[in-house]
Amino acid sequence: MNVRDTFTPWRQDYRPATRAAQGDGWRSPATGSIPPPIELGATFARDERYRSPAGLAYLRDQGTPGYEQVEQVVAGLEGGRDAMVFSSGMAAATAVFQVLPAGARVVVPRTMYFGLTKWLAEFGGPRGLDVVSVPMDDLDAVAAAVAAAPTALLWAESPANPTWLVTDLAACADIAHRAGALFAVDNTVPTPVHTRPFELGADLIMHSGTKYLNGHTDVVAGFLVAAPRPDGAADEAREALWERLRLHRRLTGPILGPLETYLLMRGIRTLFPRMRQISATAQALAEHFAEHPHVSRVAYPGLPTDPGHVIASRQMRGGFSGMLSLHVNGDWQRSLRTAENCELFIRATSLGGVESLVEHRYTFEGPGSTSPKDMIRLSIGLEDAADLVADLEQALERAAKEER
Ligand SMILES: *Cc1c(COP(=O)(O)O)cnc(C)c1O
Repeated sequence: MNVRDTFTPWRQDYRPATRAAQGDGWRSPATGSIPPPIELGATFARDERYRSPAGLAYLRDQGTPGYEQVEQVVAGLEGGRDAMVFSSGMAAATAVFQVLPAGARVVVPRTMYFGLTKWLAEFGGPRGLDVVSVPMDDLDAVAAAVAAAPTALLWAESPANPTWLVTDLAACADIAHRAGALFAVDNTVPTPVHTRPFELGADLIMHSGTKYLNGHTDVVAGFLVAAPRPDGAADEAREALWERLRLHRRLTGPILGPLETYLLMRGIRTLFPRMRQISATAQALAEHFAEHPHVSRVAYPGLPTDPGHVIASRQMRGGFSGMLSLHVNGDWQRSLRTAENCELFIRATSLGGVESLVEHRYTFEGPGSTSPKDMIRLSIGLEDAADLVADLEQALERAAKEER
């Protein structure tokens, strides 16, 4: 449905925060309504000459009319040429691995989102992908792994869940391209507010839209974004991959429903002010607990003492996002008790919402977890920073007392 035709086309040179706030200036063609209509059709009627009035046939094939706005806005925020919405971040991420030919070699981070590590172990490898995992902070190891045999794809996530290890994205893009591999980036944690991977050489961006993009803990969604064409030239390998991904979504059906699509677009409108405040609060908390007697280390790329700080400062702008982890002193159960003692931080998995969450990742991930046992992961929300600091102070203090 070409809603835009009824209004002046939205200027592509508006800055990302402007594009997010106004959702690229879309209107309901029927009424001028500023929020988009929610069209619930799973199928779409044809006229007496068998034409589809809006080019839509079936929800799994083309999605709902709301897709066009949310995909255009997310493509615009990343500076990409196209985007596709999925039913979850995992649906988007695994689509990339599923469209690769059998036997394809993929190089992935040793530390990244646990669900993807698990999918590659349970399905990717057993179904014929040659999966090689590397420590992404060791660029020599990344280069050696990519050069050891023809490689289809290098995957990165920075800062990476749950240790917030920073990856040098521009260097990885270079390594991948010299070897003829594509370079894909999970940009969920920094969001395009803080990192724009296409400017650093990425070919493909993936998002869990569940997290900061939606931002309100009420939608599970994902995105893939296609890189812009360099100098407008067609790039056959990248474009063939994108067409395969579109076909994959049509034929396997990991689509987002119309109601969730509406909520997702509403959340994205406030992405910029949310990220600015969340990142400022996370920085304040990281600095406060960096010198704390009950904390042995704070993992946060915004701290000058963090091993990833120099690279993060180069590839992130305006802040370092809202995720940090505290390593708690004492026996490892003290970190679990700290989470148990929180009163304002909510004990829950996930991240990127307006409410602050605390998670003992090792306990959540269960057998096979590589998360440090002494670590609690924090997702910072929009509460007053002083209340968050006070809550952690009392939780750490009680956990330390309980040990004696
Ligand atoms: C949550 C998350 C995913 C998975 O997304 P879902 O929407 O939960 O499927 C992937 N990568 C990162 C970094 C995440 O935080």
